[in-house]
Amino acid sequence: MYEFSYHKASSVAEAAGLIASHPDAKLMSGGQTLIPTLKQRLAAPSDVIDLSKIAELKGIKVAGNVVTIGAGTLHAEVAASKDVQAAIPALAALAGNIGDAQVRNRGTLGGSIANNDPAADYPGAVVALGATVITNKRRIAGDDFFTGMFETALEADEIVTAVEFPKAEKANYQKFPNPASRYAMVGAFVAKTASGVRVAITGAGPTVFRWNDAEAALSKSLTAAALDGVKASADNLNSDIHASADYRAHLIGVLAKRAVVALG
Ligand SMILES: Cc1cc2nc3c(=O)[nH]c(=O)nc-3n(C[C@H](O)[C@H](O)[C@H](O)COP(=O)(O)OP(=O)(O)OC[C@H]3O[C@@H](n4cnc5c(N)ncnc54)[C@H](O)[C@@H]3O)c2cc1C
Repeated sequence: MYEFSYHKASSVAEAAGLIASHPDAKLMSGGQTLIPTLKQRLAAPSDVIDLSKIAELKGIKVAGNVVTIGAGTLHAEVAASKDVQAAIPALAALAGNIGDAQVRNRGTLGGSIANNDPAADYPGAVVALGATVITNKRRIAGDDFFTGMFETALEADEIVTAVEFPKAEKANYQKFPNPASRYAMVGAFVAKTASGVRVAITGAGPTVFRWNDAEAALSKSLTAAALDGVKASADNLNSDIHASADYRAHLIGVLAKRAVVALG
């Protein structure tokens, strides 16, 4: 680890001031990704700005059709929330299957989406549910937020403060977890929303994407059989020691069908 200065921010305004005045600083939520990155000397920030004690970044609110989850809310808190379980059960289940208990008790929603690991689970929910990412500067549609592998629409000094998830009529998430890390080798989030059926695929490509052919087929008939003739292309999918692009393409079809069956 290289040397850096540590700041514990007590408000979003204080954190925003610190990041604006230290251009080579990094924000830290649970440190689940940032700390290993620093330990491996893959990053050398001048300053680390700890967001973990900022009360206004934590908590879950349900108002009407929208579930708002603070960026600093832990995966374990989302999984255990009776409000999330009642409003969007698929989201609570997704959070409860992230990593292991230690990861779920340190990792945060904001850290997960800001990091945009291609194998992370939350991006699937953000895109399939048509969520909105709230920052200290603006509102960003989920469809526009994830721009590439480990890349997002966030500016260097922008802080995610919350995510607004609209309730879905039906939703389900299925993943094929890496047996070691539990990250998604492929994950399929299917949601029937007021604006139609959305299918978001994570783990398979450089970043989360909507599977348009499946959405078109499921819009006609929301049944697993509707996907029988629909095949995901392996073009541009990830290929690594865990799975080839062809295998990932196959998993997309299998998991999307399982998610549709589980919609009930
Ligand atoms: C062993 C292991 C297994 C895991 N398994 C899974 C899994 O199965 N599924 C899954 O989805 N994830 C998994 N993860 C990822 C984990 O769930 C965390 O969400 C992820 O590591 C980010 O951690 P964090 O929230 O502590 O953010 P940090 O590590 O603190 O930050 C991550 C990045 O986001 C930035 N950042 C943090 N907060 C904000 C904010 N509010 N605004 C703007 N930028 C911010 C930081 O600057 C940094 O670049 C796993 C991690 C580990 C270590």
